[in-house]
Amino acid sequence: MTQSNQTAYADVQMLINGEWCNGAQGRTLPILNPATGKPMANLARAEIADLDRALDAADKGFKVWRKVSAFDRYKIMRRAGDLMRERAESIARLMVMEQGKPFAEAKMETLAAADLIDWFAEEGRRAYGRIVPARADNVTQMVVKEPVGPVAAFTPWNFPINQVVRKLSGALATGCSIIVKAPEETPASPAALIRAFVDAGVPAGVIGLVYGVPSEISEYLIAHPVIRKITFTGSTPVGKQLAALAGQHMKRATMELGGHAPAIVFDDADVDRAAKMLAGAKFRNAGQVCVSPTRFLVQEKIYERFLDAFTQYAKDLKVGDGMDPATQMGPLANGRRVSAMERIVADAVEKGAKIVAGGKRIGDAGFFFQPTVLTNVSMDARIMNEEPFGPIAPVAPFKDFDSVVAEANRLPWGLAAYAYTSSAKTAAAIGSAFESGMVSINHHGLALPEIPFGGVKDSGYGSEGGSEAIEAYLNTKLITHQTV
Ligand code: NAD
Repeated sequence: MTQSNQTAYADVQMLINGEWCNGAQGRTLPILNPATGKPMANLARAEIADLDRALDAADKGFKVWRKVSAFDRYKIMRRAGDLMRERAESIARLMVMEQGKPFAEAKMETLAAADLIDWFAEEGRRAYGRIVPARADNVTQMVVKEPVGPVAAFTPWNFPINQVVRKLSGALATGCSIIVKAPEETPASPAALIRAFVDAGVPAGVIGLVYGVPSEISEYLIAHPVIRKITFTGSTPVGKQLAALAGQHMKRATMELGGHAPAIVFDDADVDRAAKMLAGAKFRNAGQVCVSPTRFLVQEKIYERFLDAFTQYAKDLKVGDGMDPATQMGPLANGRRVSAMERIVADAVEKGAKIVAGGKRIGDAGFFFQPTVLTNVSMDARIMNEEPFGPIAPVAPFKDFDSVVAEANRLPWGLAAYAYTSSAKTAAAIGSAFESGMVSINHHGLALPEIPFGGVKDSGYGSEGGSEAIEAYLNTKLITHQTV
């Protein structure tokens, strides 16, 4: 196993009012390399005094940035996108060291951020209003779109750049300022993203970056009168707490929460293709993906063949340090996930499940876990009812369309859903039957900048892609004017 080059990873600071800085009391948090489990560097930790400075800067920054024309904002953002492309190799290396994913995935995420920035920059120029015909001929009724104001964004560690860039780009493209509370466990790559915007010419105060104790920061920022909108990606329980707080303070909110995606393979599907594509999607980022396929439901006739191909894929995966070019799946991002995987497997086995691949932690250095496939999983096992957020796949047979739809929609989540079928009729029927914000049939086509990204039910509300993602940062104002 090639070890990560730790010397390239330095201490990470916050950005407040255009300056990179440490916390007011100089306190820090350790940053671990998940491939070794060892500390690599320290992270600046915000105190309330730092948050007050960031809020004051965001208030002033908003007043400056909203006056910059949409065209000039677009030019600055495009420059930031180009800087991300130029710096992709070094930023991806930081991401691997702090998050664990294979280098190719980290580089793809960094380059995809550049595309997202470009798209939002362009779309921000099209935040059109409209004129509504009036009832009297000396009246003009204008509907205008205005930036919602300073935004507070809270992002997780699974896609350290992707989760920030959607929020940052939506806010900046529409003329908002933003304070990002980026993930403490994977702080350097989002800091590098924000540095690209600073270097591209975003004025001081428009972007703030803080780290610290998540609950302290969110409680302070959400309640603060300067903040007009919050946006959060993370687990459903935390999302519900933050949404309640936002409601209490009448703040607009976007909530990208967990999921438990059903993946249905009908017996008319290309079985080998479905097994390969679903296994690839399952074990990407070691399963730590909110839209990861989670419950594999395979029609009886093809069940054994699918299971064999899927299990073989899991067994063949090369697990290792993300900096090793041969690695296909890295470690889990933190020790909590390893303990969670052990609990999930033990619980399923206790309730009668059979392990057909993996099932165990790998070694005692770092946070590695085997790609795992389970069968005969009881419906009351935790994995059938909780988001696993890791490399474990329960596979089960089903009989007919109605029973599989009932199972697919049984849980309170509704983020992503997948199906494989060669029948256009089945594809249309399953597409409309899923209770989910995103449905992908015969391929994995989610998360492009130009298409909506978001869930329903306990998976949250709002969208972080497509024109809906711009709308989320805009207020609608009516100006009706009578000429006198
Ligand atoms: P967690 O639920 O405590 O944290 C999830 C994320 O929310 C982290 O980034 C954390 O910093 C943040 N967070 C937690 N409490 C917060 C608060 N009060 N205010 C603001 N932010 C807060 O636990 P975890 O161990 O980090 O992750 C566990 C679960 O979270 C996973 O099993 C998964 O279900 C979910 N998760 C989802 C996503 C996603 O993309 N939707 C990403 C990461 C984690």
